[in-house]
Amino acid sequence: MGIIDWIYPKHCPVCLDALPPGDRLICAPCRKKIRYVRGAVCYLCGKPLKDAGEEFCRGCRARRPSYDGGLSYAEYSSKYIRRMLYEVKYHRNRQLLDFPCADFAERIKDRVRWWQAEALIPVPVHPSKRLLRGYNQAEEIAKRLSKPLGVPVDASMLRRTGKTRAQKELTAEARLRNLSAAFAAGGNPKGYRRVILVDDIVTTGSTAIACANALKGAGVRNVYLLSMAIGRDE
Ligand SMILES: [Zn+2]
Ligand SMILES: [Zn+2]
Repeated sequence: MGIIDWIYPKHCPVCLDALPPGDRLICAPCRKKIRYVRGAVCYLCGKPLKDAGEEFCRGCRARRPSYDGGLSYAEYSSKYIRRMLYEVKYHRNRQLLDFPCADFAERIKDRVRWWQAEALIPVPVHPSKRLLRGYNQAEEIAKRLSKPLGVPVDASMLRRTGKTRAQKELTAEARLRNLSAAFAAGGNPKGYRRVILVDDIVTTGSTAIACANALKGAGVRNVYLLSMAIGRDE
């Protein structure tokens, strides 16, 4: 342990308490409180399925998203995960991502290998938001997944072009129209064929669809999706 641990203690991503100095990234009892995505999941977005006999969740059956496969870490219904992601986004406590990202990578690395992806592409935030917060939370997640998954991060290919209207009051179709104009891929200079889109939260999937459309428009053949939290199949 270093002196730095005493000055800037790490915090537990579940209870947010300061951890004792050392390598530990979560309190032992808090580990059990994470509501992992488990059991049968949607092949396309990684959402836990209501009906284990189905291949896709209801949302993906209805919309056939442009991404080709997905996995998610925890259920968005978990208040701990929601609070953790909020802390990362608004209170600049990026270190809270260390445990969940390492844990997620460990759980999915064998499956991700099958995707043979050449890059992790974080969902971009608008430059003004990045400036305000000092970082993009999706990029912070991608950076932490990169080493254990053995896939480099490319945060330059996809850009957020314009501001979007607030999404909450829009229908799914209107959301997608609203978002489609918001993302652009600046070509495909590295000639990627398979990439993994990384986001913090996937609810309707509209953001990921808009990003995957932009990437495929730039010539990427397969786009996969990794998220830290995902909504329910309903
Ligand atoms: Zn804790
Ligand atoms: Zn799905």
